[in-house]
Amino acid sequence: MSIDIDKISATLEALREIGFGEIYVLRQEEKKDDKSLLLKQLYERLERERKCVLYESASGYVFGEGDPNSPVVFVGEAPGEEEDKLKRPFVGRAGKYLNSKLEEVGLKRERVYITNVVKSRPPGNRPPTKEEMASCLPYLRKEIEIIKPKLIVCLGSTAMKGILGKEYPITKYRGRTFPYPYENSIKVFLTYHPAYVLRNPLSEREFVEDLKTILTLISEA
Ligand code: URA
Repeated sequence: MSIDIDKISATLEALREIGFGEIYVLRQEEKKDDKSLLLKQLYERLERERKCVLYESASGYVFGEGDPNSPVVFVGEAPGEEEDKLKRPFVGRAGKYLNSKLEEVGLKRERVYITNVVKSRPPGNRPPTKEEMASCLPYLRKEIEIIKPKLIVCLGSTAMKGILGKEYPITKYRGRTFPYPYENSIKVFLTYHPAYVLRNPLSEREFVEDLKTILTLISEA
């Protein structure tokens, strides 16, 4: 017996519209599981291959986390001390600040996906080198390919370099949108790194403005 998934989807959608919300939720869960599984496999590949350098100097890799069905992926630079300890991205001071600003504009951290260009902590938290970034970028690109977000948000200039391959001054280019070089339908938005905002409180207003723009871009997509 052949199964017409499109027909089943349309029927479930029609049922959802007349109040059978649970059917819709189950289908969403199935899709979510697919992406979660692919991300898990990618993480296992990252661990197995160890091609993304800096593994030895750190205490291992810190992979992305969050909602794999989110329309938005936030990309940072590299894990810091706290992230290295807990094996989770953005859980230190900058991460807590990011969470609070996301909440402020009505975006819950659990509803977005957060990751980094480099997957392990550079010694002393120095910025990653070109070679270190290049060794980890294939994994970031694959993460994005699996999630298929509508929007990638680059938090700071390392993320911009990794995602766009460009080195624009972030203070001048923040708030702008570019096409993602590997998939034209995905937009790339530039903003400050939260650690920069913490060091430069005057930039907070612009950072919050950017987070509000992100909300608008997601709802338009
Ligand atoms: N800064 C980053 O760029 N990434 C993290 O995960 C934490 C701090």
